[in-house]
Amino acid sequence: MGCLAQRLPWRFVAEWTSEGEMVLREVKRIYAAGATRYQEYMIAELAGIGKALVLDGKVQSSILDEHWYHEALVHPILLAHQCPRKVLVIGGGEGATVREVLRHSCVEHVTMVDIDEELVELAKKHLAEWHQGAFSSDKLELVIGDGRRYVENCHRKYDAIILDLVDPMEGGPAARLYTLEFYRAVKGCLRPGGAVVTQATSPTLSPRVYAVIRNTLAKVFTIVRPYVSYVRSYNGLWGFVAASDTVDPAKLSAKEVDELIAARIRGQLRFYDGETHEWMFRLPLPVRQVLSETRDYATDEKPVYVPV
Ligand code: SAM
Repeated sequence: MGCLAQRLPWRFVAEWTSEGEMVLREVKRIYAAGATRYQEYMIAELAGIGKALVLDGKVQSSILDEHWYHEALVHPILLAHQCPRKVLVIGGGEGATVREVLRHSCVEHVTMVDIDEELVELAKKHLAEWHQGAFSSDKLELVIGDGRRYVENCHRKYDAIILDLVDPMEGGPAARLYTLEFYRAVKGCLRPGGAVVTQATSPTLSPRVYAVIRNTLAKVFTIVRPYVSYVRSYNGLWGFVAASDTVDPAKLSAKEVDELIAARIRGQLRFYDGETHEWMFRLPLPVRQVLSETRDYATDEKPVYVPV
């Protein structure tokens, strides 16, 4: 690799990973770039990770490994549930989360609530590899609106709620979707036996935030399972938290997961299987230490934000 100064005339996406540290990725081709009412966006071909969606300077997913994120987010709680018929996705503008939900034979209806209509339109046009036609499914109801407002006024109950949101950033559109008050409203939208899962930032880059999200869900639900995937596009380990009063994905063995996949999921998965499931729920020691040492939780009055 040449020295940075030689490469500066080219265009780069610079993503902060911690204060004073950033990852630079050369932009090979831009499909779309600008700002919606809610966020700055770029859909571009980036060195190392290929085609990617970048929002407010953060890579949201890339063609290289979006399945390491979306399959990890969706399948554990949907398979641990007896048979989820109605699913709510909040966020997930690329359409890949809905794509994965629609593979489940139990699912009859999906509501997707995303705040950013312009972004969803851009995804429909430029991210066909992600949504693969999911936006045209007659099982999908697409609602443009704030996920917080939706769950506070929800008139339909769901078997599973999947929170595929941007990180909690000060002034960002999802800042109030990681708090105690929000998770209480989420619980109010669940049918008995229901479960929720959220992306939970990085246990290595923002370990305190990951632990606070786990703690906040633990104030509302009795079964709370933090787990991880590895996503190179997010610069390392990525965290998720599943929560419920009845559904426990951590109890599923590799064999049970493989049997459930065969019985209930259409098409070929590229990341998730029984062995991967067991790996995702076995956390490395430093992650377990942060989880056991962090006591605080997030409220509307005292929210949690990623450090950069
Ligand atoms: N995989 C991603 C990650 O972990 O960084 C999340 C991807 S997805 C593109 C995030 C989506 O959350 C975007 O489509 C954005 O518009 C949506 N979003 C942000 N705030 C929201 C809110 N308050 N209500 C509903 N959707 C929201």
